[in-house]
Amino acid sequence: MKKLSVIVPCYNEEEAAPLFYEAFIRETAGMPVEFELIFVDDGSRDKTVEAFEQLVKRDERVHYLSFSRNFGKESAMFAGMEAATGDYVAIMDVDLQDPPALLKDMLHGIEQEGYDCVASRRVTRKGEPPIRSFFARMFYKLINRISKTEIVDGARDFRLMTRQMVDAILELKEVSRFSKGLFSWVGFKTKWLEYENVERVAGETKWSFWKLLLYSIDGIIAFSTAPLAIASILGLLFCVVAFLLILFFFFKTLIFGDPVAGFPATICIVLMLGGIQLFCIGILGQYLSKTYLETKRRPIYIVKTKK
Ligand code: UDP
Ligand code: MG
Repeated sequence: MKKLSVIVPCYNEEEAAPLFYEAFIRETAGMPVEFELIFVDDGSRDKTVEAFEQLVKRDERVHYLSFSRNFGKESAMFAGMEAATGDYVAIMDVDLQDPPALLKDMLHGIEQEGYDCVASRRVTRKGEPPIRSFFARMFYKLINRISKTEIVDGARDFRLMTRQMVDAILELKEVSRFSKGLFSWVGFKTKWLEYENVERVAGETKWSFWKLLLYSIDGIIAFSTAPLAIASILGLLFCVVAFLLILFFFFKTLIFGDPVAGFPATICIVLMLGGIQLFCIGILGQYLSKTYLETKRRPIYIVKTKK
């Protein structure tokens, strides 16, 4: 029988972890695979690890890793994939927003239909603040326009992959990880299952608007170099405008002879050009800082305990 490793990243999920385990066992009963459940504690400050201990005692298929601090969900997923020994690997959230019942369809997609990966995509954003949905949509539009890697709108991290695809992802050692892009970058045949958004069973979301905004900037920087061209394009544009203006004022003064009252205009132009220059330097800074972080080659996570 084939083995399926299920990776579950958890951060402060003492309530959700046991609920997840129960639901998982119930809803995957009778699946024709051997399971391995790998919980990854991402430096929780509550009793998440104790909850894992309970589960490890009850069921020998349960394993866990605990990080020395909070490294983020991306690192937790990476650590889980490195620890997984299965022929197939699934990634799921612990809050049951990723219905375990879908694993059956996912497995079918891989074993019977010949896909390398079956991923999930939520088609509604029910229960989410409208402003967040709006920005999320804008983000997907923008990144797909400026990046060669397709980033699917509404894609969740919940997916089932073959060993071959997981090994390909593990080859990508970058520190700033944007998995939605990495999964797509490695290629392979992916089937998308669509489902309606489900609300969390317990605890609360770890993603504030600000965290999501920073994450989306990481995504853009990691998968597109288009922003770097903004400086050159704007620079060129302003040169052309300036040249035309010079011609205009030169001839205007020659013909009509009136001097231009320039103080307010000068202030506006100086402020605008200054703003644009700082903005462009900021973009350079973003790429430079990522390059800096990558060249340090720090590990993606640090494990404190492992069972
Ligand atoms: N998570 C994590 N590390 C973090 C933040 C979140 O491992 O720093 C886990 C969290 O415990 C959950 C999953 O990632 O299992 C998704 O997080 P959450 O439900 O808060 O995100 P949302 O579903 O609201 O996007
Ligand atoms: Mg969630």
